[in-house]
Amino acid sequence: MAIQKTIDPVIRLSQSIVGQRESDALIKVILDDGYLGMGEQVNNFEREIACYLGVPKEWVICVNSGTAALHLAVQAVTKADDEVLVQSLTFVSSFQAISAARAKPVPCEVHPETITINLRDAENRITKKTRAIMPVHYASNPDNLDKVYEFARKYKLRVIEDAAHAFGCTFKKKKIGSFGDIICFSFDGIKNITSGEGGAVVTKNEETAQRIRDSRLLGIEKDTEKRFIGERSWDFNVVEQGYRYHMSNLFAAVGRVQLSRLNNEFAPKRIELAKLYRKQLENVVGLQFLNTNLGPVVPHIQPVRVLEGKRNNLRLTLESQGIQTGIHYKPNHLLTFYNTGGMQLPVSERLYEELLSLPLHPGLSSIDVKKVCQVVIKFMKSS
Ligand SMILES: *Cc1c(COP(=O)(O)O)cnc(C)c1O
Repeated sequence: MAIQKTIDPVIRLSQSIVGQRESDALIKVILDDGYLGMGEQVNNFEREIACYLGVPKEWVICVNSGTAALHLAVQAVTKADDEVLVQSLTFVSSFQAISAARAKPVPCEVHPETITINLRDAENRITKKTRAIMPVHYASNPDNLDKVYEFARKYKLRVIEDAAHAFGCTFKKKKIGSFGDIICFSFDGIKNITSGEGGAVVTKNEETAQRIRDSRLLGIEKDTEKRFIGERSWDFNVVEQGYRYHMSNLFAAVGRVQLSRLNNEFAPKRIELAKLYRKQLENVVGLQFLNTNLGPVVPHIQPVRVLEGKRNNLRLTLESQGIQTGIHYKPNHLLTFYNTGGMQLPVSERLYEELLSLPLHPGLSSIDVKKVCQVVIKFMKSS
């Protein structure tokens, strides 16, 4: 099918929703405060995240990306060559975070109805070196999380939740991040809330929290505590590899405004639009939605499975109408860097051919969503 590439997308797949309030907050840090590094704004952002989740402030550690959050979490609980079980169908960030910590990501299959990690498959991949499991809350859905924790208890594994999609979601009436072992969030530009770039680790484990807090600031022991009272460390010790992964006051100022908009603005809008997609498209032959519980799940993306080999042409048709779509994700075991010996994961590979993410962000109107659905319905009927 020939398509014209000249049309600018009219309906974008995702978008940062920021405005006057975020801008005012930035200006305030620049003009009134003038301290752009990690200080009062970050301290307050951590406090407000803790308050939102209903956990102690000490559990929350802000960093400069979701990838950094995952990297520090993996480093805190593994040694070189330890193995981490992770679903292959995730953003490459999950894998990069594991390999950056010199551990080995072990790609696992997913359940096709939810794209959560298949624990039976994961069980077959356990070795003496397996140290942790990283469930990914794909499309914000933490569906089998209690089974993941049961599995981790059985095999004495640490759990690092890749909750990049899942800020603001609940599981069995508890907020993601308010329970569990180590939970990593992303606040990149298009996630449920953004701080420009940014992320956070949440953990109740004191030792893990302290290691992560130190390693976000080049491994300088207790530097966070000093910076939050306006001091710096000059005579200090370092006991392990650290990174410059701390969050800046500028990012935190944006994040704080975004957090205050989540419950009343962003979350209800995302849920409403995702419900509308379902209502319009649920009965279309050849389309399949993932099982998800909208409401508790605040969806970051809106994937559908397009069956009968029609995905690519549907994607081109939408594109030709100025509608941007995405493919979340190429399974990581297919990437050269992570392809250990021609490994095959048939379910993940099939999903990679079928998945199509439709536009979803709080800047869309229901008219936009209906327009997308009309194009989808017309294509599916006529092809
Ligand atoms: C966005 C994302 C990350 C990484 O977050 P960044 O803030 O972009 O580094 C990790 N995992 C998944 C599944 C993501 O979608």
